[in-house]
Amino acid sequence: MVNWILRKLFGSKNARELRRLAPIVRRINEFDDQFKSLSDDALRAKTVAWKDELSRIFDPEEQWQQLDRILPEAFAVVKNAARRLKERRHSFTVCDQPMTWDMVHFDVQLLGGMVLHRGRIAEMATGEGKTLVATLPLYLNALTGRGSHLVTVNDYLARRDAEWMGQLYSFLGLTVGCIQHDQDPDVRRQQYACDICYGTNSEFGFDYLRDNGMATTREQQVQRGYHFAIVDEVDSILIDEARTPLIISGPATISTHQYDKWKPLIEQLVRKQTMLCNRIASEAGEAFEKEDVELGGRLMFKVKLGQPRNKQLLRMMEDPDKRRAIDKAELSFYQDTRKEELFLLKEELFFTIDEKSNEADLSEQGRSFLNPDDPNAFVLPDLISEFTEIDLDTALSDEAKDKKKSERQEHCDTQAERIHNISNLLRAYCVFDKDVQYVVEDNKVVIVDEFTGRKMPGRRWSDGLHQAVEAKEGVQIDRETQTLATITIQNYFRLYQKLAGMTGTAETEAAEFSDIYKLDVNVIPTNRPVARQDFNDRIYKTRREKYNAVIAEIKEHHVKQQPVLVGTVSVEASELLSRMLKREKIPHNVLNAKFHMQEAEIVARAGQPGTVTISTNMAGRGTDIKLGQGVPDLGGLFVLGTERHEARRIDRQLRGRCARQGDPGASRFYVSFEDDLMRNFGAADRMTKIMERFGLEEGQELEHRWLNKSVETAQKRVEQRNYMIRKRTLDFDDVMNMQREVVYTWRNEVIDTEDPRSEIFEVIDEAVPAKVKEYLDVDEPNYSGLIHWINTTFPLGLTKEKAQLETRSVEENAQFLIGKVKEAYERKSSHEEPTAVKSLERYIILNAIDRLWQEHLYAMDALREGVYLRGYAQKDPLIEYKTEAYDMFVELMANIKNEVLHNLFRSTSNLQAFENFLATLPQFLLKEDAPSSPTAGSAIPTKRARQPSALGDNGDGEVPVDLPVRRNIPKVGRNEPCPCGSGKKFKNCCGRTA
Ligand code: ADP
Ligand code: MG
Repeated sequence: MVNWILRKLFGSKNARELRRLAPIVRRINEFDDQFKSLSDDALRAKTVAWKDELSRIFDPEEQWQQLDRILPEAFAVVKNAARRLKERRHSFTVCDQPMTWDMVHFDVQLLGGMVLHRGRIAEMATGEGKTLVATLPLYLNALTGRGSHLVTVNDYLARRDAEWMGQLYSFLGLTVGCIQHDQDPDVRRQQYACDICYGTNSEFGFDYLRDNGMATTREQQVQRGYHFAIVDEVDSILIDEARTPLIISGPATISTHQYDKWKPLIEQLVRKQTMLCNRIASEAGEAFEKEDVELGGRLMFKVKLGQPRNKQLLRMMEDPDKRRAIDKAELSFYQDTRKEELFLLKEELFFTIDEKSNEADLSEQGRSFLNPDDPNAFVLPDLISEFTEIDLDTALSDEAKDKKKSERQEHCDTQAERIHNISNLLRAYCVFDKDVQYVVEDNKVVIVDEFTGRKMPGRRWSDGLHQAVEAKEGVQIDRETQTLATITIQNYFRLYQKLAGMTGTAETEAAEFSDIYKLDVNVIPTNRPVARQDFNDRIYKTRREKYNAVIAEIKEHHVKQQPVLVGTVSVEASELLSRMLKREKIPHNVLNAKFHMQEAEIVARAGQPGTVTISTNMAGRGTDIKLGQGVPDLGGLFVLGTERHEARRIDRQLRGRCARQGDPGASRFYVSFEDDLMRNFGAADRMTKIMERFGLEEGQELEHRWLNKSVETAQKRVEQRNYMIRKRTLDFDDVMNMQREVVYTWRNEVIDTEDPRSEIFEVIDEAVPAKVKEYLDVDEPNYSGLIHWINTTFPLGLTKEKAQLETRSVEENAQFLIGKVKEAYERKSSHEEPTAVKSLERYIILNAIDRLWQEHLYAMDALREGVYLRGYAQKDPLIEYKTEAYDMFVELMANIKNEVLHNLFRSTSNLQAFENFLATLPQFLLKEDAPSSPTAGSAIPTKRARQPSALGDNGDGEVPVDLPVRRNIPKVGRNEPCPCGSGKKFKNCCGRTA
């Protein structure tokens, strides 16, 4: 077998890598032969011996090396166990279905297992048995006792694979667990404690967030480290899901949207635009009639800007001459020299929609329609110059300046919010289509995953877009939610010491896997030669012609009883085809993806004689299609794609559903010029030329291998673009990820430490000197301010005279005060019960971290939104975001520390102890600023209660306000030149006191 495989592989890097593994395959098989004579117990004893040996190696590096050494023997043990189960016809149930074990690892599966063990991606076609492949590295890596995880796409598959492969693991003496959505923490903890644990990416990810962002004791945490994980359907998870992070959220405290208010006006505006675009399109028609192609093209380009899905536009795009004229107009307008003209053209519309980037922009006309009295209501004011003007106004006092500035800031925030609301509504009306991007069910807007066609109940578009769509559909507008914890799947997987993946389709995305995740791809040859026939695409001018041809072909196979699997790119298309099939009285199943188990059954039945199955996107479905009796003689399963997907990978997934394990099978794709891919990415144009050369008539189809190439070129272009978008999302997320790591590490330190007081003291050591510096390390040291801060934060009762601050250096003062604070703290806690104090100390820090971290997440969301607004000012949003985010994080850490200090003496484990402590304080302290009425066990969120005094006012006797910094967008960047014109950076000038 191995030799046959190797003969197939020549020259390529992949072949060289696999060829190097071939001798190991031979050794595994030799061991497997030897083991045949062992008793079950003797085979099992190997697991125990290895576990024992590995548990005594503490250096991770050495442990990995040891695993490499025992790999051939360990894989052979697994294979041998599979053989025993097969020989005994071992029976069991999986998801309540009876089954008999019938598999022994093939050589290609051993190869795949090795690739996974090396922390790479194994590309193995559908039906090659990846579920079984994973058992080899999972077993081997679990021998360390540190847990191996297998990540699947849904709960049903997690349970199925755990119960199925569990037969093998239990035979070998390893435990296997499985995480399911509805399990409570105790059950989860037991599952994670198993040697091998199956579960979905979102369950793993959410458990991580809860463990690290919410649990307050070790006992509440369920996971136990991130050692080795294999991600099944890795492309689906790392690429398709790359744009939706896992979010744990709670209802937001405030809701500011005005979607209801704007909806009627926006509806009118959209209607006006439609009328306008129709009129322009008719003019264009006349121009074309008079052979004025240039004018026609220009007019239609305008329509495209204003209403990309205008019916007349779509119709004209079918005509090769007109299409060329329109594309030509578009191209010429995007030249740099015509920027001005393009701007004027846009101004003739009410708004413009960019179909590619999903963005909507109001023109002057649009603005005055929405608010005739004040079109400027939709323009962001130029804060920087306004601030400068205020600063230069000598007639104003400092106080008045601050007041004015904060008014302008507030005004700007309101504007930004309004612009955002309107832009969301325009997008909701013009770019988001019902039954394509979303469906309306039970008075709710439910997102449809564009990649899988699955409904995603419970998920919401962010940034208020979801509410805009709810307003459009006239359903209940749900409240905004606030992010409590968030992570992208990608960053969750980066936690693992070793990560591997498997899928039927990784090769086309190999560059992305390698660049972003450092995962290399190895393509494993199939166990048997592939007998699938891939026919050339059939290409039509219009969708209508295409669908008619699709139905005709389905019928052709159906009358022979040959099963057909029909792939579509949207739920809408699936429903359309279903209606057409009904008319033809062809029975069929539509995968509605509501219930995974039911879905798996439908997919599994798709190979039976005479079945027709319609499915939106087959990627990541994880159930393979076995052929029914007699079907091989009919040519096997016929796969029919009704549209080329944006990514070639998804098309390959669909094709791969037939001809598994050497079965017969065939596939064909249908394409029309009206398909989005063809319209948006220029493939149609090239083809129109080819069509003309062939002299094609209306209703006729085109079919040639060159045409497949053109489609592929368009696909590659989209893949590139989508890759850039994903990369950018990740670049943004990286910033967040670093911050999260710092915060979560601190949290875990606090949870784990036996000596939480040392954590508290560390905070004192850092925060007190920072404050001292703030007051004293300036041109005019503010001693009374410092004393005031000390006395309002700690019950020290320091007076100017007692403290003698003037006699010491800044550094000495810091040390002096640190000593005082610690001394007072020791005194306070001496009145309390030691274990209670420990948990109180933990609580004080965790409480401060959690509360402020959540506010920070909220501010980061706003920042991210805000930098895009700033993007208009020709700045790179990512760089802006990074700088701002860094500054905000520094402030967050300082705020957390200050909050810890602030609550230190305002919390108690026990009221009696607190009263005892109060009794030891000097009388005068008990009057005003002293800690008052603590709640047992809780740090009081005192900041909410305190009144912020006038901005920046730090006069005598005033309580200095250290409100957590909440950013309003836009503002002057800390590193930008100060608007006062001093030439210094803002943060070193006016920004210092602001
Ligand atoms: P994949 O995930 O690669 O698409 P699956 O793991 O779902 O494939 O397996 C597909 C089918 O192949 C399963 O029904 C399984 O029973 C069968 N199979 C896998 N490996 C073997 C084997 N070594 N011998 C016999 N059948 C196998
Ligand atoms: Mg699978």
